[in-house]
Amino acid sequence: PGSLACVGLGMMLGAHLGPRARAHIEQADVVFAAVSDPVVELWIQQMHRDVRSLQPHYAEGKPRHQTYREMVDAMLAEVRAGRTVCGAFYGHPGVFAKVPHDAIAQARSEGFHAHMEPGVSAEDCLYADLGIDPGRVGCAHFEASQFMFYRRRIDPSAYLVLWQVGIAGDRSYRRFATGPEYRRLLVERLREDYPLDHPVTVYEAATLPITQPRMDTVPLCDLPDTALYMHSTLVVPPCAPLQRDEAMLARIEAIERAEA
Ligand code: SAH
Repeated sequence: PGSLACVGLGMMLGAHLGPRARAHIEQADVVFAAVSDPVVELWIQQMHRDVRSLQPHYAEGKPRHQTYREMVDAMLAEVRAGRTVCGAFYGHPGVFAKVPHDAIAQARSEGFHAHMEPGVSAEDCLYADLGIDPGRVGCAHFEASQFMFYRRRIDPSAYLVLWQVGIAGDRSYRRFATGPEYRRLLVERLREDYPLDHPVTVYEAATLPITQPRMDTVPLCDLPDTALYMHSTLVVPPCAPLQRDEAMLARIEAIERAEA
């Protein structure tokens, strides 16, 4: 019977691929690849003779949900044909990535074995490069457009990370970039919780061992005029100290006293 494994390649070519993910790639009948960089695709091709790029499904002007459905269908067709299929995705296949989750759910609903193998995501590289521990004061992650379309409660004493900030505000789900006027609205939303001169960092992890990560820190008000790409992530550090919950602390103290 057919089966599906969606594995993570990590962010950097040759640096993050784990042995289990590599084994899935090498032992598959067919490999589908969704990677960030054409060079990374060549690297995957060296591991298997039948690597099919999912990249051509992307097209400016084509709705992203259609692109994603085509990618799921392409992989599922091979699973249904009885083949051992591996989907190889850059980063972590389950982090801000719809296709691997959908394909695994679909395969399981049809009775096939399906598995996700985690990888090193942009998030992991961000913590290392920017020296951020998400456990220190907490860290919230949102997709930038969703963050604009819905009311969210922001905790300014924690880190805030916005993904896909380069297409923030795109409701067509067809674009590869949105302009400064969209980002001005994002800045307006953020200034409800942060000062306009608050430093924010545009982060781009290195994807080749010979390149450096981009870590550009600008005042929040300059964000509309800062270059943002499909692979940019925005990091907003806290602007407020942790607030003590005096009521909770008093109740804990009461328990402590009873225990003593
Ligand atoms: N599954 C991927 C994320 C895919 S969603 C992962 O595990 O990282 C695409 C978003 O990921 C981008 O819009 C950006 O916010 C982030 N991203 C992708 N490549 C990146 C890179 N090189 N540096 C920083 N963020 C990146």
